[in-house]
Order: sequence, then C-alpha cells, then structure tokens
Amino acid sequence: MGGCTKKQKMDTLEEEIVQNRPLTTPLYFDIKETQWPIIYSTEYNIGFMGLEKLHPFDAGKWGKVFEFLKEGKMIRDDTTVRPLEAQQEDLLVVHSKKYLNSLKWSVVVAGITEVPPVALLPNFIVQRKVLRPFRYQTGGTILAAKLAMERGWAINIGGGFHHCSADHGGGFCAYADITLAIKFLLTRFKNVKRALIVDLDAHQGNGHERDFEEDDRVYILDMFNRGIYPHDGYAKRAINRKVELQFYTDDAEYLQLVRRHVQGALNEFEPNFILYNAGTDILEGDPLGCLSISPKIISCDAAEDAPLPDESVEASVPRSTSDGSLWSRLKRRNCSTVPRSQTQENIETCVDETNDAPASST
Ligand SMILES: [Zn+2]
Repeated sequence: MGGCTKKQKMDTLEEEIVQNRPLTTPLYFDIKETQWPIIYSTEYNIGFMGLEKLHPFDAGKWGKVFEFLKEGKMIRDDTTVRPLEAQQEDLLVVHSKKYLNSLKWSVVVAGITEVPPVALLPNFIVQRKVLRPFRYQTGGTILAAKLAMERGWAINIGGGFHHCSADHGGGFCAYADITLAIKFLLTRFKNVKRALIVDLDAHQGNGHERDFEEDDRVYILDMFNRGIYPHDGYAKRAINRKVELQFYTDDAEYLQLVRRHVQGALNEFEPNFILYNAGTDILEGDPLGCLSISPKIISCDAAEDAPLPDESVEASVPRSTSDGSLWSRLKRRNCSTVPRSQTQENIETCVDETNDAPASST
C-alpha cells in the first residue's frame, strides 16, 4: 500500500510538472533585436547511411532551403534563430507516455517514417539520427509560435508534422508539433483565445485534427487531395472547413478555392492567431501529392488579387519555404514590428523561387 501511495504521489507530481511545462519550458527563449524570427538548425537534417534517400520525402531538404536562402544573401547565420530540442516534459504536454515509449522500438519508428530498414537499427541510433532531428524541429515550431506573437510573424524551416497526434505517429511524422505549439500558446498567451490552422499541404492533416476534435478554441481549414494518404475519415469530422481536391486539380481552381475558404474561415472564426502549414507537395510532378499546381501560383505576384486577412490576424507560423501567396500577404500585413528592409523583400522573392526545388511531402 505504501508503495502504491508513493507511486500515486509521483504520478501527481509528474502530472503537475507536465501541466506547468508550457509556463516554464526553455524552448521559449528571447531572441536578439538583430535576429529575424526565422528558425532553423543544422540538427534538423536526417543524414545517416543514405536513410534519408529511402523515402520519396527528402529528409535533408531543410538544410538545402537554408543554404539557398543564405547563398542568396537573404539570411545569415547570425540573424537566424536556433531552437532547442523538445524534451520529454515538453512532448508529454500532448503525447501519452505510452506513445513516447513506443518510439523506443525501432520497428515502430520504421513504420512512422515508412523506411523499413530503420527497424534493423539499434534504437539509440534511431533516437540520435532520426528522432532527435524531429525533436529539434518540434522545438522550432513551438518557438515559432511564441516569436510570431512577439514579432507578428515567424517561420520555422521545418516541422509541420501534421499526421502525428497525441497517441499515434505516421506519414513521416513522429511528434505532434502543431498541436504542441498551439497548446503551449494557449497556456502562455492569455490573449490568444482562437487559433486558426490553415493546412495547405496536399495531404489531410489528420494528426492535429484528432487532437483538436473537441476544442472550440481551434478552427481547422484543410485543403487536401482526397484520393491520397491518410484517408482518415474519423479525423475529417474535426475539420471546420474541409476542401477535398480531386487528383491533378489545376491552378485556376486551386487559387479560387484558397481565396474563398481562407476569407470564409477568417470571417467565420475571427482568429487571434494563425498557424499555416505549408506544403510543397501540391506542386505539379510531386509523386505523393498528385496535384497540378505550378510554381507561379504560389508566388507573391500571382496572388495580388487574393483576399487579405482582416485585422484580427495577429500572427502566423508557416513552416516551410512553400509559403506562397497567403504567407506573403499575411507577412505584409503583420510585420510592423520588423523594420521593412531590403532583406525582407528578398525573402519574399526567394520564397517563390524556392518552389522550383524538388518537391517533397509529409
Ligand atoms: Zn504532405
């Protein structure tokens, strides 16, 4: 009995630590005035014995994006923010212990990453070479949400693991960074009462959908190809605005749908915060997305007619370089705390050009 009571006490203590974690996490830190809220770390990239090449998803793409931006003199090492790795206590804010423990089995991680040889590796290698990069990216998304509140915008060049929910990973997504970022935010920032997720990746974002199924503080707009992974009918019930696309939807139809539904979501929900999950897999030729969107459609110029979000938009947290028209427009409206400079204009241009890079998918 005594042992049981002690265990119960430990459990309660652990629960309290987890509940308070968003208030104390070291993942939220201050950045210098001279830094941009653009987040990246070399730790993001998965590069181990060619494992990154065994999935159509390019698991080294984050470094390529960063180098591209750097070569174009659009960002520098010293202006970029390096996030910390999300720790067990951070992950427990959303994930169950059972789920996190399951990742100690390499075969489970092999299933999540869809790379069967991962099952043959000792778990300490899987932790170091596969899961740790994901944890850094998760730390990046959580930090991006905080910085977006302070600066009006932020970008994490990574994350966007929208297939992972509290107790289930899949589709190359091992941690629910989107759910985590919003839960931390709702706890830390009392003025955030309504968060909008705009998920324009080609796949359905079933992870955050399952997590926020019964949470009225979160509104989800999801545009995805209905004929591809994950076909999660249960999760679809949590989508407030579901836009199911046919195979090879083209530019004209796509843009028209984005315009109509983004404006509709903003009118209907009036969010304090927007988290935008971008996806390059909508591009023509992507082997997983199976849509036919040309790079020009997600350029700033092509979207001059797109509706502007209203003044209720306070922040946005896109995750990758496929941040097309929507992001550019949001940024123009919301970057008032950041001096307008040549660098900023360059980043907008660069975002467009990056879409010519090989597409990848989550
Ligand atoms: Zn995707």
